[in-house]
Amino acid sequence: QAFNERESLYIVLNFAKEFFKKNLDTEEGRSVGLSYFKERGFDRQTIEKFDLGYALDGWDHFLHAAKKAGHSEELLLKAGLILQKEGDASRFYDRFRGRVTFTIHNLSGKAIGFGARILTQDKKQPKYINSPETEVYHKSDILYGIFQAKKSIREKDNCYLVEGYTDVISMHLAGIENVVASSGTSLTENQIKLIKRFTDNITVLYDGDAAGIRASLRGIDMILEGGLNVKAVVFPDGEDPDSYARKVGSTAFQNYLENNAQDFISFKIGLYAEEAAKDPIKQAELIKQVVASIAKIPDPIIRTVYIQQSACLLHMDEEIIQAELNKLFLKEQ
Ligand code: ATP
Ligand code: MN
Ligand code: MN
Ligand code: MN
Repeated sequence: QAFNERESLYIVLNFAKEFFKKNLDTEEGRSVGLSYFKERGFDRQTIEKFDLGYALDGWDHFLHAAKKAGHSEELLLKAGLILQKEGDASRFYDRFRGRVTFTIHNLSGKAIGFGARILTQDKKQPKYINSPETEVYHKSDILYGIFQAKKSIREKDNCYLVEGYTDVISMHLAGIENVVASSGTSLTENQIKLIKRFTDNITVLYDGDAAGIRASLRGIDMILEGGLNVKAVVFPDGEDPDSYARKVGSTAFQNYLENNAQDFISFKIGLYAEEAAKDPIKQAELIKQVVASIAKIPDPIIRTVYIQQSACLLHMDEEIIQAELNKLFLKEQ
């Protein structure tokens, strides 16, 4: 029975995907949704590749169409596509209304959920609304764009990790297909395992703001713990991969990634270097930060390589780094 329920969920989610796509050809969809995508540089081919769509403005356009097609409210609720009216549990309404939609696919390309973006800068509403956890959509197990990226990740033997839906799409437009998004949540062990099926190398491309840098530092330690190699690229303040790719163009963007990918040690040192140069306490802090990351690496040989490298970059003896590392390992026991 569990099998049947999953199958039914896939069917109704596919129905929603097709419905949102078809909406782009309605008058409202063309003038609002399609023109929004056009403005962001997303052409028809891209809309097709990522199953982008539009949820009509109104309380029950989708609900009405889905019921007409024979889908029960119970199933639509389980798929996270509708919501129960407060105070009257027998009444329902659409979760996604008046927003452009981003289909979230599983590894085999089936629709499992949606992200939906508001079109105007309405501060009263969240910019993105996402599907809730369902029987087929486990946020912590999936990465946005993995279906479109998996072949390229294997070929390039590297995976770019970004924050947002539009970063993934704009990078495809810039000719880079080995990219997935964590969709604004912190990276999980299962997401790293998912990438590890295709490559051992991740390059983190988080937004060039304080939140993005914090998130990449967390992500980097998670990735190291998973036994993968990690690099990071820092974008100018206020830019994300989407805005930067559109600003400088495909070739310059590709060059930027190649010329600015730093291994995690240089990345961390770069973040703290300015402060550390003037202040011995900050310098000690920096060393502890670097050592903390090295301690996450499960493979002792790779650890040794990084000890050598950080000793060199920090102008310190390897023995001192090793001693710091030993202290950490002793603490853990
Ligand atoms: P855009 O370029 O369309 O403004 P973005 O992807 O740059 O979007 P960010 O604010 O950088 O948006 O957020 C990164 C990701 O985090 C989004 O793509 C989305 O998956 C998620 N996110 C952002 N805001 C929200 C929100 N209010 N609720 C839920 N998820 C969100
Ligand atoms: Mn951001
Ligand atoms: Mn962003
Ligand atoms: Mn953006």
